[in-house]
Amino acid sequence: MPEHATPPRPSSSPSVPPRPPRPSCPSVRRLRPLITGCLAVAASLALAACGTANGALQPQPGTGAPSVPGAPSGGPPGGPSVVPAPGSDGVPVSAPTPPGRPTGTPKPSAPRPATGAATPPTASKPPVRTPSQPPQPPTTPAAPPATGAQTPPAQPAPPASGGSAAVVRSTASGGRTVALTFDDGPGPATGQILDLLAQYGVKATFCQIGRQAAADPAMVRRVLAAGHRLCDHTVHHPQPFAALPHDKAVYEISAAKDMIVRAGGPGTGVGWFRAPGGGFNADNERISADLGMRPLGWSVDPRDWSRPGVASIVSTVRSQLKPGGVILLHDGGGDRSQTVAALRQLIPWLIAQGYRFDFPAS
Ligand SMILES: [Zn+2]
Repeated sequence: MPEHATPPRPSSSPSVPPRPPRPSCPSVRRLRPLITGCLAVAASLALAACGTANGALQPQPGTGAPSVPGAPSGGPPGGPSVVPAPGSDGVPVSAPTPPGRPTGTPKPSAPRPATGAATPPTASKPPVRTPSQPPQPPTTPAAPPATGAQTPPAQPAPPASGGSAAVVRSTASGGRTVALTFDDGPGPATGQILDLLAQYGVKATFCQIGRQAAADPAMVRRVLAAGHRLCDHTVHHPQPFAALPHDKAVYEISAAKDMIVRAGGPGTGVGWFRAPGGGFNADNERISADLGMRPLGWSVDPRDWSRPGVASIVSTVRSQLKPGGVILLHDGGGDRSQTVAALRQLIPWLIAQGYRFDFPAS
């Protein structure tokens, strides 16, 4: 086996064949067969060694793929070709299709899909790609529904808005009915009054000041939720209202309506306009009518805002009220405890007198 010593060296280098001839031994002729035999053995050993070495690096190749650098062993033949694609336009692809895809690619493309998702979904929806990647569609369509969900707010039909500019001072139904109206809210007493009205199942009309409605939209919504109706009572309650220039009257009336509607939410109806202090004139009556609100006066005024005493409020209502009447009261503008106390007596009395509660004519 001494020969082994010589030939084995070449084992280190892969190119075995060229070396054998080189050995310059004198008695080569006779030993040739031996040497060649040894060389053959050495070569086979070297090959075997190489094989094992390579095998350690890539055990799988034995099956099929020879020298695949990556490791798309599991991946289909298309693996290598897919890699470049995601880089360019595969942006959205990688996001939805993390499975199946080659392991190396997902990372680079992963960040992009995020941005793509953030931006308008429609733009990043190339038709070409969609068909090939089934998982994609789910992500893109998911976005639109979200936006759609925001837009569809329930929109109940607003109350009828009469085109008449004549100040109304009676109920819609007439007969033995009465309309309770509350001005200058929403205010601290509004909740108490709502509780009281709910106790008797009574509906009323609330003439709200625009800026107060804007400041307490929850109370505006509570009024609506209880089935009551809304009336525009200007933005700032300026007086004497009839003395206002046309432009200012337009602003006070229209802006207040907008504030109330905004506070109440989409679909909020504001069917009437009541001038502060009853300061109606032809101009503001026309303005309100053009905005779809009937000018609203009253037929009974117990002057509760001046706090004349509970007994006074109650007696004035009893003496002035006639069927179809509209009662003026206040849920804002100061301490309304007398108003609330008077209501506790008046509502049962009205019911006992056979009155039904109604809204003003519109
Ligand atoms: Zn008022």
